[in-house]
Amino acid sequence: MVISGGNRTIPDALPLFPKPPRRGVNGSIVLFGPPGAGKGTQASRMSKLTGKPQVSTGDMLRAAVAADTDLGREAKGYMDAGLLVPDEIIIGLISERLQQPDAESGLLLDGYPRTIIQAKSLDKIESVSAVVSIEVPDDAIVQRIVGRRMDPETGKIYHIEFNPPPAEAANRVVQRKDDNEETVRSRLSAYHEQTAPLANWYGERGVLLRINGNQGIEEVGDSIESALLELSGKDA
Ligand code: AMP
Repeated sequence: MVISGGNRTIPDALPLFPKPPRRGVNGSIVLFGPPGAGKGTQASRMSKLTGKPQVSTGDMLRAAVAADTDLGREAKGYMDAGLLVPDEIIIGLISERLQQPDAESGLLLDGYPRTIIQAKSLDKIESVSAVVSIEVPDDAIVQRIVGRRMDPETGKIYHIEFNPPPAEAANRVVQRKDDNEETVRSRLSAYHEQTAPLANWYGERGVLLRINGNQGIEEVGDSIESALLELSGKDA
């Protein structure tokens, strides 16, 4: 609010937040971890906490496959085989997304970057404030993914044993095509070979937050929340 010469000038719209976001979480936040670590499950809580829109490259690619676009047709074979889609395809997709107006104060990136090349390319166009690494052992991952189901109406993710869908959704939940044991093993190998080295890369830049993902959904969410609050407090 500006007061000048007795005339009170009131801004057209009050800012959503009374103070600008603190420096610690000013840029984008990356959700990092093996497939099935719980990145998608934690993303909506984190999106509410940080005000950053959630962007999942896996969801974007699945939408392209469902819409049968050129990009979808190109990506499908890799996805079905549990391989990473080539860097140039995915880099183009994210670069475009970062130019949209709601990306101005950063995005919550779920599943991107997944290779050093993607991380370097992101570094050139966006500042990454934090990389939340959700860590879960391989055996637990296989058990989680094979039992994972999604409600196509709400997008909610369940597990047939650990987090069963409510009765009204039980008949409509579906299993993702790449959520079978064979494909999960390929996705885990791709993760260990191409994606896991990124943890050190971000660790050296001082933005890596390691979270024990081998606990309940609430506990993982609480650990992420405290780590992010600590980070924003540190740099405030
Ligand atoms: P997700 O839903 O994150 O598990 O992604 C599903 C599949 O989409 C992966 O197994 C890859 O084939 C592809 N994918 C998603 N994000 C990326 C990425 N950043 N780089 C390469 N491939 C990706």
